[in-house]
Amino acid sequence: MRYRGGGGWHEVRAQLTVAADGRFSKLRQLAGFEPVKTSPPMDVLWFRLSRTPEDPKGVGLRSRIGRGQMFVTIDRLDYWQLGYVILKGSYQEFRSAGIEKLRESVAKLAPEFADRLGELEDWSQIAFLSVESSRLERWYKPGLLLIGDAAHVMSPVGGVGINYAIADAAAAANILGEPLKRGHVHLWDLAEVQRRRELPVRVIQAFQGFVQKRIIANALNPNRAFQLPAFLKWPVLRDIPARLIGLGVWPVHVRD
Ligand SMILES: Cc1cc2nc3c(=O)[nH]c(=O)nc-3n(C[C@H](O)[C@H](O)[C@H](O)COP(=O)(O)OP(=O)(O)OC[C@H]3O[C@@H](n4cnc5c(N)ncnc54)[C@H](O)[C@@H]3O)c2cc1C
Repeated sequence: MRYRGGGGWHEVRAQLTVAADGRFSKLRQLAGFEPVKTSPPMDVLWFRLSRTPEDPKGVGLRSRIGRGQMFVTIDRLDYWQLGYVILKGSYQEFRSAGIEKLRESVAKLAPEFADRLGELEDWSQIAFLSVESSRLERWYKPGLLLIGDAAHVMSPVGGVGINYAIADAAAAANILGEPLKRGHVHLWDLAEVQRRRELPVRVIQAFQGFVQKRIIANALNPNRAFQLPAFLKWPVLRDIPARLIGLGVWPVHVRD
């Protein structure tokens, strides 16, 4: 592994390099891995607004849908994280309409924040998330393992990207700890990490794909009245997505 730091280039010789360098992984690119991509129909504009002492507490995560628009509110306890979901490809249109237009649209969707939308002064306060979803067919090569977003970029549906990245790291620690101590990491050890984590990733990505196509794409269509799928009205069925998001399919526990 060659890296730059401390005033120059250095080389580290190791049996294994773990690429946990995120959605734009340089190591994935250098190793020549091609992700299988799906293109969700949306992008998200993320921004923060301040809390006031009068704001409700314990709100958690809420989304609001209406008139071809979707807005997500996340209670971060000392501030609000807000996500304005837009149709993929419409960001430039939003930007050229000006920040005032964005403030107006948000005020209509979420009037409770109208009093503090003046905090949004320019586009540098707004993080544009180009929503992607992808996964690698193979997460490893001799001497290299990719985990987290480097191996599978997660759609923001359900906010599970961090859970999955940490679970990959926990599974890798459980599986590779002993081989690393012995000083011999084989290719099948790396394959075992992928085997342990690939099913949960595939299941959640399939679920996210369903939500994107069947719920979000409909919600963002201004020409169609939005309705939640009927199954979400049944209490038992309604709980399935929450369990899937909160607990995942095959949770990992770090072994002592
Ligand atoms: C705007 C936005 C909002 C999100 N909100 C949520 C949310 O609410 N909940 C959720 O669960 N997920 C969320 N996600 C997804 C989540 O951030 C990722 O799924 C998760 O962070 C992936 O973890 P990771 O460790 O694989 O990669 P990252 O957290 O991206 O970490 C990669 C690290 O590698 C470093 N790095 C990259 N390249 C190099 C290099 N060449 N040399 C050295 N270091 C390098 C980076 O600086 C970074 O520290 C969001 C993502 C975005 C973009």
